[in-house]
Amino acid sequence: MRALQKTHAGEGLEMVRVPVPEIGPDDVLIRVNKTGICGTDMHIWAWDEWAARTVPVPLVTGHEFAGEIVEIGRDVEDLKVGQRCSGEGHLIGRHSRQSRAGKFHLDPETRGIGVNEPGAFAEYLRLPAFNVVPLPDAIDDEIGAILDPLGNAVHTALSFDLVGEDVLITGAGPIGIMAAAVARHVGARHVVITDVNPARLDLAAKVVDVVTVNVAEEELRDVFPRLNMKQGFDVGLEMSGNQRALDQMVETLTMGGRIALLGIPPGKSPVDWSRIVFKAITIKGVYGREIFETWYKMIAMLENGLDVRGVITHRMRADAYRDGFATMGSGASGKVVLDWT
Ligand code: NAD
Ligand code: ZN
Repeated sequence: MRALQKTHAGEGLEMVRVPVPEIGPDDVLIRVNKTGICGTDMHIWAWDEWAARTVPVPLVTGHEFAGEIVEIGRDVEDLKVGQRCSGEGHLIGRHSRQSRAGKFHLDPETRGIGVNEPGAFAEYLRLPAFNVVPLPDAIDDEIGAILDPLGNAVHTALSFDLVGEDVLITGAGPIGIMAAAVARHVGARHVVITDVNPARLDLAAKVVDVVTVNVAEEELRDVFPRLNMKQGFDVGLEMSGNQRALDQMVETLTMGGRIALLGIPPGKSPVDWSRIVFKAITIKGVYGREIFETWYKMIAMLENGLDVRGVITHRMRADAYRDGFATMGSGASGKVVLDWT
């Protein structure tokens, strides 16, 4: 089969031919139809310090996918050949205290497909049946292929009650934009999204009804009177990984505000703790998706009017993956979806 592999410890990925994976008794084999390119894949392509430390070579990469089950393991119940599906790319252990308590997303033994284990940028993917998420007819393959990052957005956005709240989202990348759509869908009062890249803010405004602020040019506080905000934002969703964005969030949050942190800063970054203490701010770190509660809620919202399709700006054949990665790297795109059929 064709697969996009990290073949050498260095920059780039190569389309190679590798054997179709063999499945075990608890696995399924999925024919991959569509995949999304993620920021993580960009790090793996660039072979930065994190990737060099984390990713074994050779490895088939990719973790955002949708496809169809073509083979099921001998012990798998409840799934059938022909079932359309996406799936959780975090493979969890069953031994930790967290897993045994059902908090699968907190398992310290988590391994990722396309990062530690063979991934989804391929014609076929082996996945434990446990990780499979069946797709209803209302969710087509290209939306199915971005459920992993949408799940990050949903997990973060649902960390705190947003009903009637003024919400600040820092970072209008694909995940920030989708989080804005979720915040709107669940009934936030105002949703403001910031970025320093005008192309990203234009995309955000196209996809969802939000107030956009280019913080390289405008004062964030200037939106307060326009939105009839007296003190500041009630909830902050940090989706840029940028230190200045987090500082600005702490600064513009109201007393007793709440922050969910998804963005990953590149290194250690200083925090003004006294301000967080005196504002009595609650901070929650967010990792991955809640397995499988986030999936359940995300699918229910998609079936009931949540629309994030506009965040997909480019669709191309898998063989054009070099263009796909270049497009993602340009900063001018939303999600890029590759077609493997
Ligand atoms: P992205 O890089 O596409 O988007 C980040 C955006 O932040 C960019 O558009 C950038 O221009 C913007 N930005 C930079 N400086 C800013 C500033 N000062 N103020 C406001 N915005 C600023 O990333 P993405 O794919 O949308 O992911 C969002 C973040 O979430 C990334 O940091 C990513 O690493 C992280 N992430 C975390 C998890 C997790 O499990 N915690 C999972 C997926 C992604
Ligand atoms: Zn991803």
